[in-house]
Parts: sequence; C-alpha cells; structure tokens
Amino acid sequence: MLLASARIDCNCQVRHLTYGIMGSFPMKALHDKKNWPWIAAVAVVVLMAIVLRLQGRAWFCDCGQLRFWIDDPRSNHTSQHFLDPYSATHFLHGLIFYWIVSGLFSRWNWPWQCLLALSLEAGWEIFENTQFVINRYRSTTASLGYEGDSVLNSLGDVVACWAGLLAARALGWRRSLVLLLAIELTLLVTIRDSLLLNIWMLCWDVEWLKTWQAG
Ligand SMILES: [Zn+2]
Repeated sequence: MLLASARIDCNCQVRHLTYGIMGSFPMKALHDKKNWPWIAAVAVVVLMAIVLRLQGRAWFCDCGQLRFWIDDPRSNHTSQHFLDPYSATHFLHGLIFYWIVSGLFSRWNWPWQCLLALSLEAGWEIFENTQFVINRYRSTTASLGYEGDSVLNSLGDVVACWAGLLAARALGWRRSLVLLLAIELTLLVTIRDSLLLNIWMLCWDVEWLKTWQAG
C-alpha cells in the first residue's frame, strides 16, 4: 500500500510538472502557430552564430571590450563590435531584401516574408565570412587587415537588416529607394565605401578605386 501510494504521488508530481512546463511561456508560444516564423527566425540567427564560430570567427573584438558603436571605418575594431559604419550597408540589405521578398512572395504574410529575408541575411553573413571572401576582401578592397566579422558584429548586421526591412515596409518602395540612394551617397562621401562599391570591388579589382578608398 505504501509503495502504491508513493507511486500515485510520484505520477501526480510528474503530471503537475508536465502541465507546468506545457503551460510555461515558451511552450505556450510554441503552441501558437502565429509565433512559428518568429521562433524560426531566432533559430536561424542562433544557427548562423554557431556556423560562424565553426568557421573560426571570434565572439567579439580581441581588444576585450564590448562596444556598441565604432565610428572609424578603417580601425582594427571595425567589424568586431556591435555596430559600425558598415552596419549601414546591412540596413540597405534589409531594404533590398524586403523588395525582393515582398515582390516574389506577395501572398506570404509579413512574419514569413521577414523570416525569409532574415534567412537571406544570415546566409549572406556566413558567405561573407568564408575564408574565400575574407581573402578576396583583403586582396581587392581597402580592407587590408580584414579577418572576418566577429559573431557580435554579425548579430549587429542582422539587427541592421531587420531595421531595414521595417523601414522598407513602412516607407514603401519609392521612398525606401530614395533612402537607399541617400545612404549610399553618404557612405561614399564619409567612408569612401558603399554597398554597391563593396560588391563591385569584391567582384572586380579596380586599382584606382582602391587607391581612392585607401586615401
Ligand atoms: Zn575592439
């Protein structure tokens, strides 16, 4: 009898514990299908961080400090802390990815469009931090000492892209196109680089542009 009652008591505790977990916030969120794209987006970002680590990227800058913003586009801290002038190019990714995703998948609702766009950005981060692209940046662009982004900086890039998606959605394509051109121009004037120039130099090595950028 004592043994039986102990077993019943034990079962009860297990059931209570199960209900407790099922009723907890993460499980409730998981049950609601509306949350699935957002949960998947977090999973994609976590996966991106794991892949970046496996590719040999550092968690954050080897200066040992956790800084939110680096204003010098050519310093050793660039691409190693959360945000820097190059984050603006990832904001532009957000604008462009929104046009692509909302144009090609107009029947999808916003959370799924957003998941696809953020997955594109995570894929870009992984591609951008392959040894092949890092070596290419070092040889053909002004980023001579570049050794890949830190994971923290890649997370900042995803956040910047997310901000770009929200901006494009709020502004519509005409006004976001004007915003894109304004940011490209500002980057060209202030840091002698831009998203278009960055991609251009990655594909084609133009000596006079490299000299201008280094000056
Ligand atoms: Zn640093």
